[in-house]
Amino acid sequence: MKLVIATGNRGKLAEFERLLAPLGIDCVAQGELGVAEPEETGLSFVENALLKARHAARATGLPALADDSGLCVEALDGAPGLYSARYAGEPADPQANIRKLLDALSGVPAARRGARFHASIALLRHAADPEPLIAEGQWAGSILDAPRGDGGFGYDPVFLDPATGRSAAELDPEDKARRSHRGRAVEALTARLAEAGWP
Ligand code: IMP
Repeated sequence: MKLVIATGNRGKLAEFERLLAPLGIDCVAQGELGVAEPEETGLSFVENALLKARHAARATGLPALADDSGLCVEALDGAPGLYSARYAGEPADPQANIRKLLDALSGVPAARRGARFHASIALLRHAADPEPLIAEGQWAGSILDAPRGDGGFGYDPVFLDPATGRSAAELDPEDKARRSHRGRAVEALTARLAEAGWP
């Protein structure tokens, strides 16, 4: 069985390939099939994951999987949230995003710097599937005063994982994958695939 993955991100594609290969599911990136990324007009992660998966399924006639994720900071009413990738404007610039976030939290004490990474995954059998498989994961932590570590991507250097006392950029990739919002969402998805009759 062939499944289109609605992402332009190679890391994510590899992660999903690893997960789904044992189930006899072959993954193909939407870009390889000439599918462009749709506009993300949803107002929540799960809506955007669904609209990306539906767009890929409609364009290819194949089952489709998409994910959407971001960072939600309590003191900022959930911002940058859906707009995490482009928080500091176009083009997407992770360093500028971190600077903007630290500025927005300047003077906010450690006790009020709580934040969560969130990931939603949507899996559709076809574009009109009324029973999409949805899985979500969260990773709770807080925002540091300054970046630490040089691994990972995005907001990792300023996200403190309370369980280890390390920033997400200081964790080794396996450890991050186990603890992260995306890792947890993928785990939840795996657990539900067989129960939902996939593939
Ligand atoms: P997307 O789901 O690939 O669109 O990710 C949205 C944005 O959220 C990324 O560009 C990052 O800014 C942020 N983000 C999502 N997951 C992570 C993570 O694991 N570490 C750091 N930043 C993340």
